[in-house]
Amino acid sequence: MSHDLMLLKVFMTSIILNIMMPDGNFIKITELFTNGDHGNKKNDYLCIKKMKLFLINIATSVLLFLSKIRKKVTFNNIADFLEGITNSLRKKPQPLHIVISDPEGIAVAKEIHCYDIKEMYREPKNMPGLCPVCHNTIEKIPNLDYYTSTDKDIAITYDGFYIVRDRFKLFCEKQGYEGLRFVPLKKSLRHFYFMPEKIFQMDKETTVTMHQGEPCSVCGNYLWTGTGGHKIFSAIRWGEEDDFILRTEEFYTDKYCKSPLVIIGLKTARLMQEYGLKGFFFSDVYYKSEQN
Ligand SMILES: [Zn+2]
Repeated sequence: MSHDLMLLKVFMTSIILNIMMPDGNFIKITELFTNGDHGNKKNDYLCIKKMKLFLINIATSVLLFLSKIRKKVTFNNIADFLEGITNSLRKKPQPLHIVISDPEGIAVAKEIHCYDIKEMYREPKNMPGLCPVCHNTIEKIPNLDYYTSTDKDIAITYDGFYIVRDRFKLFCEKQGYEGLRFVPLKKSLRHFYFMPEKIFQMDKETTVTMHQGEPCSVCGNYLWTGTGGHKIFSAIRWGEEDDFILRTEEFYTDKYCKSPLVIIGLKTARLMQEYGLKGFFFSDVYYKSEQN
């Protein structure tokens, strides 16, 4: 996660927490964090951890406020400070692989990030396409009765299904991209389930991939898989004029909510903006050459 994004997230959490708990009633806060179940060691730990995060959030608000007035504290050093604290808080419960620092690289493509919308399957147990043992995603199979009225041109359901509006589909058809799957939804006439079929060649040596849990004996998937906010590296040095829509081979996040990342060309991102597609944003995908 970039510094600015992380800062924004922490700041927003802080505002929400402040609105929710204006009196600073610590007993109530404790109950809220533990669902009223005291005496349970796991819950106590959770409580302390969340209390710490809560206090950090308050401290961030103050720092941000001071930085606005005095202009002495920059956004970058607040973000560094916060990242240090959140990393140290994360250390205890995370049996994750060791994380290396991001190497340098040049931006050669873009990753699409979109907002979450209502889940496609209300009951995960009814979701098809899962491993019978670990309930990990093997294949995304959309529920054709799904209804959404989202005005975002591309969005993702909480359970990891990409949904696009007709405008997005028209744009793709106009540009003639190959290997894109659009599945009409019976109840959402302007929306489609969306999945790029062609694979983005990731530089697997340079891209950090984190796993949680042991791999499933049946499907080989982990409980959780992610990049932990680290840079994504391409195996191909795409240029400014490359125009494509691809997906990663690997699916990310949690069990049945896993989905691939959608990676597009630099030109594609420009064209999407020029066409007026809205409601999502991009981050850079890098290439690590010998020189950098
Ligand atoms: Zn499995």
